[in-house]
Amino acid sequence: MTNREFDFLKEHFSGEELERAKERVENGEPLAYVIGEWYFWDQTFLLNEACLIPRADTEHLVEHGLKRLKKGYYFADLCCGSGCIGITLLKHTENTKCLFADISQKALDMAKLNAQRIGVLERCEFVCANIKDNSSFLNRQFDVIFSNPPYIPTNVIETLETVKHEPKIALDGGEDGMDFYRLLINDYLPLVKEGGSMLLEIGYDQKEAIEELCQCSVYRDYGGNARVAVIDK
Ligand code: GLN
Repeated sequence: MTNREFDFLKEHFSGEELERAKERVENGEPLAYVIGEWYFWDQTFLLNEACLIPRADTEHLVEHGLKRLKKGYYFADLCCGSGCIGITLLKHTENTKCLFADISQKALDMAKLNAQRIGVLERCEFVCANIKDNSSFLNRQFDVIFSNPPYIPTNVIETLETVKHEPKIALDGGEDGMDFYRLLINDYLPLVKEGGSMLLEIGYDQKEAIEELCQCSVYRDYGGNARVAVIDK
Protein backbone atom coordinates (compact mmCIF):
# COMPACT_ATOMS: atom_id res chain seq x y z
CA MET A 1 0.00 0.00 0.00
CA THR A 2 1.27 3.49 -0.81
CA ASN A 3 1.53 6.24 1.83
CA ARG A 4 -1.19 8.11 0.01
CA GLU A 5 -3.55 5.14 0.22
CA PHE A 6 -2.81 4.78 3.91
CA ASP A 7 -3.54 8.49 4.48
CA PHE A 8 -6.93 8.02 2.80
CA LEU A 9 -7.70 5.09 5.06
CA LYS A 10 -6.71 7.03 8.17
CA GLU A 11 -9.14 9.77 7.20
CA HIS A 12 -11.97 7.24 7.19
CA PHE A 13 -11.13 4.60 9.78
CA SER A 14 -9.39 4.05 13.08
CA GLY A 15 -8.54 1.11 15.35
CA GLU A 16 -9.92 -2.29 14.37
CA GLU A 17 -11.69 -0.85 11.33
CA LEU A 18 -8.48 0.66 10.03
CA GLU A 19 -6.76 -2.72 10.31
CA ARG A 20 -9.57 -4.41 8.37
CA ALA A 21 -9.54 -1.68 5.71
CA LYS A 22 -5.75 -2.02 5.31
CA GLU A 23 -6.14 -5.72 4.77
CA ARG A 24 -8.75 -5.17 2.04
CA VAL A 25 -6.52 -2.69 0.18
CA GLU A 26 -3.54 -4.99 0.55
CA ASN A 27 -5.63 -7.77 -0.98
CA GLY A 28 -6.09 -5.60 -4.05
CA GLU A 29 -9.55 -4.13 -3.47
CA PRO A 30 -9.90 -0.63 -4.94
CA LEU A 31 -9.57 2.10 -2.34
CA ALA A 32 -12.82 3.63 -3.60
CA TYR A 33 -14.84 0.55 -2.55
CA VAL A 34 -13.05 0.28 0.77
CA ILE A 35 -13.74 3.88 1.76
CA GLY A 36 -17.17 3.76 0.05
CA GLU A 37 -16.84 6.97 -1.94
CA TRP A 38 -14.80 8.50 -4.73
CA TYR A 39 -13.97 11.86 -6.25
CA PHE A 40 -15.73 13.23 -9.32
CA TRP A 41 -15.79 16.83 -10.57
CA ASP A 42 -16.17 19.01 -7.46
CA GLN A 43 -17.04 16.45 -4.78
CA THR A 44 -17.26 12.80 -3.79
CA PHE A 45 -19.91 10.22 -4.68
CA LEU A 46 -20.94 7.39 -2.39
CA LEU A 47 -20.40 3.97 -3.92
CA ASN A 48 -21.27 0.35 -3.43
CA GLU A 49 -19.93 -2.58 -5.39
CA ALA A 50 -22.78 -2.39 -7.90
CA CYS A 51 -21.39 0.97 -9.10
CA LEU A 52 -18.53 1.60 -11.45
CA ILE A 53 -15.92 3.77 -9.74
CA PRO A 54 -16.24 7.29 -11.25
CA ARG A 55 -13.32 8.13 -13.53
CA ALA A 56 -11.67 11.49 -14.21
CA ASP A 57 -12.05 10.71 -17.94
CA THR A 58 -15.82 10.88 -17.51
CA GLU A 59 -15.52 14.49 -16.35
CA HIS A 60 -15.04 15.39 -20.03
CA LEU A 61 -18.59 14.25 -20.70
CA VAL A 62 -19.78 16.64 -17.96
CA GLU A 63 -17.66 19.45 -19.37
CA HIS A 64 -19.22 19.10 -22.83
CA GLY A 65 -22.64 18.57 -21.27
CA LEU A 66 -22.51 21.82 -19.33
CA LYS A 67 -21.97 23.69 -22.61
CA ARG A 68 -25.19 22.25 -24.00
CA LEU A 69 -27.62 22.21 -21.08
CA LYS A 70 -29.86 25.24 -20.84
CA LYS A 71 -32.11 26.40 -18.03
CA GLY A 72 -35.14 24.11 -17.67
CA TYR A 73 -33.81 21.28 -19.85
CA TYR A 74 -34.98 17.69 -19.33
CA PHE A 75 -32.15 15.21 -19.81
CA ALA A 76 -31.30 11.57 -19.16
CA ASP A 77 -28.34 9.73 -17.70
CA LEU A 78 -28.62 6.19 -19.04
CA CYS A 79 -26.56 3.45 -17.30
CA CYS A 80 -26.16 5.96 -14.49
CA GLY A 81 -24.33 3.79 -11.91
CA SER A 82 -23.52 6.05 -8.93
CA GLY A 83 -25.27 8.91 -10.76
CA CYS A 84 -22.06 10.94 -10.96
CA ILE A 85 -22.76 12.36 -14.44
CA GLY A 86 -26.40 13.39 -14.09
CA ILE A 87 -26.10 14.61 -10.51
CA THR A 88 -23.09 16.80 -11.32
CA LEU A 89 -24.98 18.26 -14.29
CA LEU A 90 -28.07 18.95 -12.17
CA LYS A 91 -25.98 20.61 -9.51
CA HIS A 92 -24.44 23.04 -11.98
CA THR A 93 -27.49 23.93 -14.08
CA GLU A 94 -30.66 25.79 -13.27
CA ASN A 95 -34.13 24.25 -13.13
CA THR A 96 -33.07 21.16 -15.07
CA LYS A 97 -34.53 17.68 -14.51
CA CYS A 98 -32.87 14.33 -15.06
CA LEU A 99 -34.09 10.80 -15.59
CA PHE A 100 -31.61 8.27 -14.24
CA ALA A 101 -31.77 4.70 -15.50
CA ASP A 102 -29.74 1.65 -14.58
CA ILE A 103 -30.23 -2.10 -14.75
CA SER A 104 -29.04 -2.48 -11.15
CA GLN A 105 -31.42 -1.48 -8.35
CA LYS A 106 -28.44 -1.43 -5.98
CA ALA A 107 -26.65 1.11 -8.16
CA LEU A 108 -29.82 3.16 -8.52
CA ASP A 109 -30.27 3.21 -4.72
CA MET A 110 -26.79 4.69 -4.48
CA ALA A 111 -27.58 7.28 -7.16
CA LYS A 112 -30.67 8.26 -5.16
CA LEU A 113 -28.62 8.61 -2.00
CA ASN A 114 -26.04 10.73 -3.83
CA ALA A 115 -28.78 12.95 -5.27
CA GLN A 116 -30.22 13.46 -1.81
CA ARG A 117 -26.85 14.21 -0.29
CA ILE A 118 -26.04 16.75 -2.99
CA GLY A 119 -29.47 18.38 -2.74
CA VAL A 120 -30.91 17.68 -6.20
CA LEU A 121 -33.28 14.81 -5.39
CA GLU A 122 -36.45 16.75 -6.21
CA ARG A 123 -35.20 17.20 -9.80
CA CYS A 124 -34.55 13.46 -10.31
CA GLU A 125 -36.55 10.55 -11.62
CA PHE A 126 -35.23 6.99 -11.27
CA VAL A 127 -36.04 4.03 -13.47
CA CYS A 128 -34.65 0.56 -12.88
CA ALA A 129 -34.53 -0.91 -16.37
CA ASN A 130 -32.46 -2.80 -18.85
CA ILE A 131 -32.06 -0.19 -21.57
CA LYS A 132 -32.09 -2.99 -24.15
CA ASP A 133 -35.86 -2.70 -23.74
CA ASN A 134 -36.78 0.92 -24.36
CA SER A 135 -40.52 0.53 -23.68
CA SER A 136 -40.41 2.43 -20.38
CA PHE A 137 -38.90 5.46 -22.13
CA LEU A 138 -40.99 5.63 -25.31
CA ASN A 139 -43.39 8.39 -24.27
CA ARG A 140 -40.54 10.73 -23.31
CA GLN A 141 -38.67 13.39 -25.24
CA PHE A 142 -35.34 14.62 -23.94
CA ASP A 143 -33.38 17.76 -24.66
CA VAL A 144 -30.15 15.84 -24.13
CA ILE A 145 -29.26 12.21 -23.44
CA PHE A 146 -26.01 11.33 -21.68
CA SER A 147 -24.50 7.90 -21.33
CA ASN A 148 -21.26 6.33 -20.26
CA PRO A 149 -22.36 2.82 -21.20
CA PRO A 150 -20.41 -0.42 -20.82
CA TYR A 151 -17.96 -0.34 -23.75
CA ILE A 152 -15.17 -2.84 -23.21
CA PRO A 153 -15.14 -5.79 -25.65
CA THR A 154 -16.09 -8.95 -23.73
CA ASN A 155 -12.80 -10.77 -24.32
CA VAL A 156 -10.72 -7.74 -23.29
CA ILE A 157 -12.29 -7.41 -19.81
CA GLU A 158 -10.44 -10.42 -18.41
CA THR A 159 -7.11 -8.98 -19.53
CA LEU A 160 -7.56 -5.69 -17.66
CA GLU A 161 -6.14 -5.65 -14.15
CA THR A 162 -7.60 -2.19 -13.47
CA VAL A 163 -11.28 -3.18 -13.66
CA LYS A 164 -11.26 -6.64 -12.15
CA HIS A 165 -13.12 -5.63 -8.98
CA GLU A 166 -15.83 -3.70 -10.80
CA PRO A 167 -19.22 -5.10 -11.94
CA LYS A 168 -18.91 -6.87 -15.26
CA ILE A 169 -22.31 -5.59 -16.42
CA ALA A 170 -20.98 -2.03 -16.08
CA LEU A 171 -18.08 -2.85 -18.40
CA ASP A 172 -19.19 -5.42 -20.96
CA GLY A 173 -20.00 -3.81 -24.31
CA GLY A 174 -20.39 -7.10 -26.21
CA GLU A 175 -18.14 -8.71 -28.77
CA ASP A 176 -16.79 -5.49 -30.30
CA GLY A 177 -17.61 -3.23 -27.33
CA MET A 178 -20.16 -1.33 -29.44
CA ASP A 179 -23.45 -3.01 -28.44
CA PHE A 180 -24.69 -0.12 -26.31
CA TYR A 181 -23.76 2.54 -28.88
CA ARG A 182 -25.78 0.73 -31.56
CA LEU A 183 -28.69 0.51 -29.14
CA LEU A 184 -28.46 4.12 -28.00
CA ILE A 185 -28.27 5.42 -31.55
CA ASN A 186 -31.06 3.22 -32.93
CA ASP A 187 -33.53 3.30 -30.03
CA TYR A 188 -32.75 6.42 -27.99
CA LEU A 189 -31.59 9.05 -30.47
CA PRO A 190 -35.20 9.24 -31.76
CA LEU A 191 -36.22 10.31 -28.22
CA VAL A 192 -33.98 13.40 -28.42
CA LYS A 193 -35.80 16.56 -29.51
CA GLU A 194 -34.78 18.32 -32.72
CA GLY A 195 -32.01 20.74 -31.79
CA GLY A 196 -31.00 18.51 -28.87
CA SER A 197 -27.99 16.22 -28.49
CA MET A 198 -26.74 12.87 -27.35
CA LEU A 199 -23.39 12.82 -25.54
CA LEU A 200 -21.57 9.53 -25.11
CA GLU A 201 -18.36 8.53 -23.45
CA ILE A 202 -16.37 6.25 -25.75
CA GLY A 203 -13.25 4.12 -25.43
CA TYR A 204 -9.88 5.48 -26.58
CA ASP A 205 -9.95 3.24 -29.70
CA GLN A 206 -13.61 3.63 -30.65
CA LYS A 207 -13.52 6.89 -32.63
CA GLU A 208 -13.73 5.24 -36.07
CA ALA A 209 -16.34 2.72 -34.96
CA ILE A 210 -18.67 5.41 -33.55
CA GLU A 211 -18.18 7.58 -36.63
CA GLU A 212 -19.29 4.65 -38.73
CA LEU A 213 -22.50 4.39 -36.72
CA CYS A 214 -23.51 8.05 -36.82
CA GLN A 215 -22.56 11.56 -37.72
CA CYS A 216 -20.86 12.93 -34.63
CA SER A 217 -18.07 15.11 -33.29
CA VAL A 218 -15.44 13.28 -31.27
CA TYR A 219 -13.51 15.13 -28.57
CA ARG A 220 -10.30 14.04 -26.88
CA ASP A 221 -9.35 13.86 -23.21
CA TYR A 222 -6.23 15.43 -21.67
CA GLY A 223 -4.31 12.25 -22.47
CA GLY A 224 -5.06 12.84 -26.17
CA ASN A 225 -7.43 9.87 -26.38
CA ALA A 226 -10.82 10.03 -28.06
CA ARG A 227 -13.29 10.20 -25.17
CA VAL A 228 -16.57 11.98 -25.92
CA ALA A 229 -18.85 11.64 -28.94
CA VAL A 230 -21.49 14.32 -29.46
CA ILE A 231 -24.38 13.74 -31.82
CA ASP A 232 -26.30 16.95 -32.48
CA LYS A 233 -29.81 16.59 -33.90
N1 GLN B 1 -22.43 6.51 -15.40
C1 GLN B 1 -21.59 5.86 -14.44
C2 GLN B 1 -20.19 6.41 -14.49
O1 GLN B 1 -19.84 7.07 -15.42
C3 GLN B 1 -21.60 4.34 -14.64
C4 GLN B 1 -21.14 3.91 -15.99
C5 GLN B 1 -21.29 2.42 -16.21
O2 GLN B 1 -21.74 1.69 -15.32
N2 GLN B 1 -20.89 1.97 -17.36
O3 GLN B 1 -19.40 6.22 -13.60
